[in-house]
Amino acid sequence: MGGVAVPVAVALGSNLGDREAHLAYACRRLAGALAGLTCSTLIDTEPVGVGPQPRFLNGAAVGRTSLAPRALLDELLAIERERGRERPAPGAPRTLDLDLILYGGMVINEPGLTVPHPRFRARRFVLAPLAEVAPAWRDPVTGLTVAELLARLATV
Ligand code: ADP
Ligand code: MG
Repeated sequence: MGGVAVPVAVALGSNLGDREAHLAYACRRLAGALAGLTCSTLIDTEPVGVGPQPRFLNGAAVGRTSLAPRALLDELLAIERERGRERPAPGAPRTLDLDLILYGGMVINEPGLTVPHPRFRARRFVLAPLAEVAPAWRDPVTGLTVAELLARLATV
């Protein structure tokens, strides 16, 4: 394998086609790509910030990787393509969306890759499933844990 395995968190979403099948597939594929994978239960959510469209099914997965951040992102995008993901327009309904939320304690701001994911702190549909599998993981930007970020959402 080589390299030190870094703990990573991935957000899963689907609102097009067989949502359960897309997310179950993603969990199986991620189990092959990440060591010690844990997938959360799935929640049915209202679309946020994308106009009227079908409801989402969301989840989160955590595991460890020896891949560099960019290589892991490429793997996530490849898994999306395996479920026929298309991008006709920004925010369009999607068969499968895999976002890299946390990569250890790293902060990355590069073209095409921002980690921690820039909007995850405001998204209940990311934080709620993530709090199920990694409540004590810390956001390197705010210093808050996932559980604290979720609790903060409830009060604002
Ligand atoms: P969104 O998930 O925001 O609706 P897309 O899934 O279409 O949008 O992703 C668009 C691009 O966002 C990806 O091609 C990727 O390069 C970029 N991106 C930047 N940071 C991240 C991240 N942390 N996780 C996933 N994609 C990211
Ligand atoms: Mg995405």
